[in-house]
Amino acid sequence: MEKKYKLYINGVWVDSEDGSYIDVINPATEERITEVARASQNQVNAAVDAARDAFDKGPWSRMTPAERSNLMLKLAERIENKLQEYARVESMISGKTIKQASNYDIPYIVDNIRYMAGVARNFEGKALKEYVPEGASTIRRDPIGVVAAITPWNYPLMEVIWRAIAAISVGNTVVVKPASLTPVTTLMLASDLEAVGLPKGVFNVIVGPGSSVGEQLAKNKKVDMIAFTGSTEVGKRLMELGSSTLKKVSLELGGKAPFIVFDDADVEAAVQGAVVGGLVNNGEDCANSTRYYIHENVYSKFLDALLRELRKVKIGNPLDETVDMGPLISESHRERVESYIRKGIEEGGKLTYGGKRPLSKGFYLEPTVIETDNNSSVIVQEEIFGPVWTVLKFKDYDEVIEKANDVIYGLGASVWTKDITRAIRATRDLSFATVWINEHVPVPSEMPWPSYKQSGSGSSLSTYGLEEYTYVKHVYFDISGATRKSWYYQVYGQK
Ligand code: NAP
Repeated sequence: MEKKYKLYINGVWVDSEDGSYIDVINPATEERITEVARASQNQVNAAVDAARDAFDKGPWSRMTPAERSNLMLKLAERIENKLQEYARVESMISGKTIKQASNYDIPYIVDNIRYMAGVARNFEGKALKEYVPEGASTIRRDPIGVVAAITPWNYPLMEVIWRAIAAISVGNTVVVKPASLTPVTTLMLASDLEAVGLPKGVFNVIVGPGSSVGEQLAKNKKVDMIAFTGSTEVGKRLMELGSSTLKKVSLELGGKAPFIVFDDADVEAAVQGAVVGGLVNNGEDCANSTRYYIHENVYSKFLDALLRELRKVKIGNPLDETVDMGPLISESHRERVESYIRKGIEEGGKLTYGGKRPLSKGFYLEPTVIETDNNSSVIVQEEIFGPVWTVLKFKDYDEVIEKANDVIYGLGASVWTKDITRAIRATRDLSFATVWINEHVPVPSEMPWPSYKQSGSGSSLSTYGLEEYTYVKHVYFDISGATRKSWYYQVYGQK
């Protein structure tokens, strides 16, 4: 990692204008590991102007899909060759385990980019056809323009791929504002895009607090679209900011996934899935399984096995290949998560496991299990975004579906059962955009990552994820050659 990082604007690396920098802290050691230039107001505007010019004047937006796609493939190869470096830095800035970063995040990102490079050459739509007697119609898919991509700290690189690389793959230009806590891999990506020959102005990175730099970017009249991944609260604010010029706003927001275990389920498989679903990314994943609804007949069996497995979870330095769980992202975030544990107990929940700080240095927190029968309690309703899971008992299908749906979020849910009829029924009845059966977490590049309810709007990955960054344009050709078409009398004159 470098000692200091600059911003990337219009193909040039630029330093802080007023000498202000943002410290990047390693959450495992609490030490400052590098610093990044903080963007000034001028620099935010310069980045948007660069993206605007690059879009309006080309060549990027006018290149053939094949030309853009080939560049994306080169990027994927470059990241793959630097997999260990990316994984290491990603782990150091975010606290995620190297095991996850090097076996899951970065290889998955490489696959995402390769898939995007393929889809960008394969848009489909209505064929050119005479849908009316005197004309032929078809559609175009055009890039939207300048996209402001504002990304979170939990998947620092992956979210930039899902938002900014998806956008540029189909001809848009972008200004990325990564989370101030984790900007480094986004800047490494800018450097790799430069190395593979991306034209200047297509991909710009500015860094700074969301409340100032992020808002200024989102408000800029030259921005056509906001692609945001983060909290539901900030998503709502960005919808407001985008409304003045009616920007397209695509939102991937919070989650509170239910994990439903029926009494015919393979309980041991469900327990393995529960630990992985809850623990992935240190419990800082929008799709984490956080509400375990367990049928009363298997409740004790499930809970005993869950606690048995949690005792095996190795907490420690995320750069150690054998560690299963690293620290939370920051001191203030850990305090926020701990305040939810206190609230859960105050509301009558039973602290069954964890809740303590296992190490004196680093923002660590034990995985925490709270049993409760109160579906309305704050710990069941609100996104905690940490390794705190509630376990609730249920008696029948209708009851559990109603409880599972009774949250403002609608991102992911899982159902564990051997009854295929019940499984299919649950995929219909659950108001969540992804429903896993006997699994929790996987999303292949070919499948969408959409949202219901207050988890957002739009989609990432799959063909839908790339269509998100395009306008649909209807193109109509007159084929009659007539001066006066046969239907004009309906508006003026006679037949
Ligand atoms: P956040 O606080 O909403 O921040 C996300 C990004 O928005 C950061 O870059 C932040 O900048 C910026 N920001 C904050 N306030 C802003 C404002 N007023 N105007 C413009 N930008 C602003 O979220 P987070 O804490 O980083 O990430 C955790 C959240 O992301 C969770 O809710 C999680 O569920 C969600 N998430 C959702 C998905 C999904 O696929 N649905 C995926 C990953 C994460 P600074 O941090 O620099 O201030």
